Amino acid sequence: MKRLNNKIALITGAGSGIGQSAALLFAKEGATVVVVDLNGDKGEKTRDMILKMGGEALFIHANITRETDCQDMINITEKKFGKLDVLFNNAGIMHHKDTNAVDLDDKTWDLTMNINVKGIFHSCKYGIPALQRSGGGSIINMASFVALLGSAKSNLAYTASKGAVVSLSRELAICYAPDNIRVNALCPGPISTEAFREFIGRETNIEYHLKRIPLKRFGRPEEVANCALYLASDESSYVTGSVLMVDGGITATYLSSD
Ligand code: NAD
Repeated sequence: MKRLNNKIALITGAGSGIGQSAALLFAKEGATVVVVDLNGDKGEKTRDMILKMGGEALFIHANITRETDCQDMINITEKKFGKLDVLFNNAGIMHHKDTNAVDLDDKTWDLTMNINVKGIFHSCKYGIPALQRSGGGSIINMASFVALLGSAKSNLAYTASKGAVVSLSRELAICYAPDNIRVNALCPGPISTEAFREFIGRETNIEYHLKRIPLKRFGRPEEVANCALYLASDESSYVTGSVLMVDGGITATYLSSD
């Protein structure tokens, strides 16, 4: 028995990295996947990969910072497939100009907040009524381990945005529990995706990062996708308002072994 049989799952930022990995896994587990991305080439590629493996998928081009794009992506999903069961708000950025409070510019702060936080708000604004019409469902919001831990090498806008994702997820979980809508936040540690490789490429001492991870390696996108699958499926039917760490033990660490 496939774990997402008969489910319609929409994933934002499914054109690459963790989102693409989740899209492929959800499709393998029987879901019809609505691939949403700002990047048309990447989104179409994910859709084609799913179709090639015999799955069902649709690509919708959307910029989640635009309210009308989010309204459209939900409308199109319902029109085409009749319902929505899973909303995985995965799209997010870490801007290369993100830095400490003194040097951070307004444009970088606003863009980060608009994509990482307002994008989720927009998606939920239209996604929640669709889930209510379906009789319930699962929302998974992408946060990060930096929502819970500070770093001296600051990316302040990103860190603040992911903290907001955790608290908004908790509140959504409480508000919509009566509608049988579960809302959980995922907090990955450093995961080897294109975005992360770009970030780590600017770092001079990778060993410094690895030393602080009890499992002594960066994570793989599939390892986060597996957790998203659990939260999307009925196996997590009693899990809501939770924050699931997928971080190789980073947030549990006081002193790590060498
Ligand atoms: P990625 O850059 O590989 O993928 C992000 C996708 O989102 C891209 O395909 C991009 O085109 C899309 N996107 C960006 N802005 C968009 C917008 N406005 N509208 C629609 N789509 C948009 O990144 P990733 O590493 O796979 O990260 C995915 C999520 O996981 C992000 O929210 C990120 O903050 C979070 N995360 C990543 C890591 C990591 O180490 N990779 C760790 C913790 C959390």
